[in-house]
Amino acid sequence: MRVLLVEDDQMIAQGLQTALRQEGYTIDWMRDGNSGTAALRAEHFDLVLLDLGLPGRDGLEVLRDLRRRNDATPVLILTARDELPDRVAGLDAGADDYIVKPFDLDEVTARMRSVLRRAAGRGDPAIQHRGIRLDPVTHSVERDGAPVLLSAHEFAVLEALLQRPGAVLSRAQLEDRLYGWGEQQVESNAVEVYIHALRRKLGSDAIRTLRGVGYFVPA
Ligand code: CA
Repeated sequence: MRVLLVEDDQMIAQGLQTALRQEGYTIDWMRDGNSGTAALRAEHFDLVLLDLGLPGRDGLEVLRDLRRRNDATPVLILTARDELPDRVAGLDAGADDYIVKPFDLDEVTARMRSVLRRAAGRGDPAIQHRGIRLDPVTHSVERDGAPVLLSAHEFAVLEALLQRPGAVLSRAQLEDRLYGWGEQQVESNAVEVYIHALRRKLGSDAIRTLRGVGYFVPA
């Protein structure tokens, strides 16, 4: 799950990033409304955490721009302005839900799951492939019906590979999925380490290597 966080308060943003990465989300952080809009126009996100009071273009404008383009990406508003008119304006502009600061991190993740579940509609958002079942909403994985415990990074690698069985993803493509923009340099063998762990937990045949090119799950 790739999340865009648009928030100008550094402390709040860093707290959210740390907590959400531990939950297995990939987070891209933008500090103002214009770069938030630019990111939303350029990339696909599964969910947006959007502050309303932002430098440049404010959160409502970011949201209106998104919906004007018929982009239905779920948006959860984070706002210190807890007056009713702001909440109503946010929901009217197409937000899926809102959270009033100061908030509890558990509340944020619970609301995110709920919004994602709703966005997925009645359909089961889980990916099932050759005995592996991955649920992006609950962040759980099963192999032949038995739960498998994965780290957040292992989960992100497996999710990327399972989204397109048979397609080869290079190490650089997998690193992109693991780390948001502007994050620190990835250790050069990190992807290999996660692939090794995934094979150990899911079976050595679960992920194949195409030497010199990348990794794939057999179609
Ligand atoms: Ca703010």
